Amino acid sequence: MIKDKVIVITGASSGIGEATAKLLAKNGAKVVLGARRENRLQEIVNDIENAGGQAAYKVTDVRDAKEVADLVSLAKSEFGGLDVIFNNAGIMPNSPISALHTKEWNDMIDINIKGVLNGVAAVMPDFVKNKQGHIITTSSVAGIKSFAGSGVYGATKFAVRNLMEVIRMESAQEGTNIRTTTLYPAAINTELLHTITDSNTKKNMDAFYKQVGISPEAIARVVNFAVDQPEDVNVNEFTIYPTKQM
Ligand code: NDP
Repeated sequence: MIKDKVIVITGASSGIGEATAKLLAKNGAKVVLGARRENRLQEIVNDIENAGGQAAYKVTDVRDAKEVADLVSLAKSEFGGLDVIFNNAGIMPNSPISALHTKEWNDMIDINIKGVLNGVAAVMPDFVKNKQGHIITTSSVAGIKSFAGSGVYGATKFAVRNLMEVIRMESAQEGTNIRTTTLYPAAINTELLHTITDSNTKKNMDAFYKQVGISPEAIARVVNFAVDQPEDVNVNEFTIYPTKQM
């Protein structure tokens, strides 16, 4: 059940993370928000508290393992434990490989893969000790199939897909009951496209999202469903498309 669960959310300052924090808090979870933009985190915590929910935040760059560990520590000191981590922070500066935006390649690897690993490492000792815990990670439909322009982004999302499935298998093998949920959203209207610097790619994706994109609350509802299941039920994967997207 979701009520009173303590849930750390990375990438909580906008989009999917923000929508999920607000929905889970409305349904009684205690949410702990991490991202880099402090003003946005503060506003979201205020909104949640004004609506009667419980929330805390810490400025966190997921590239830094210690900052992610400190975010998890805040959950424990503020709310007495940790039930779920939602590894959601990510960027998508898509471009053709031939354009060689190599700095952006590295940024995606650092945030979209290493950022998730930092979240996993921060919770694993407690989850193993307690023989309970839930790791939720935002992959993408670009983690299931390939899209031109999405070579490195897709590679990062395929990587976390594999990571999550292996955590599930090893948890079953080791008897630690850790639940894993991987999300594969398609076009969701958030600030994600702001991270694209390649002008042609940005123009095409803006037009595409305008045509088909749906709201991040769609993903929040799916996370809510996964968290709300009994502890021995692992809702493992969700693929979420707008009805208008091929
Ligand atoms: P947003 O840009 O709205 O949200 C991204 C979040 O990640 C922000 O809160 C941002 O906060 C945070 N973030 C980025 N870099 C870092 C960092 N180094 N450390 C901590 N936080 C960071 O986009 P979405 O809500 O769409 O993105 C959420 C996830 O969903 C991403 O993993 C994305 O890849 C995935 N996704 C999105 C889809 C879509 O169509 N929108 C489709 C499929 C997957 P801040 O800048 O304040 O640090």
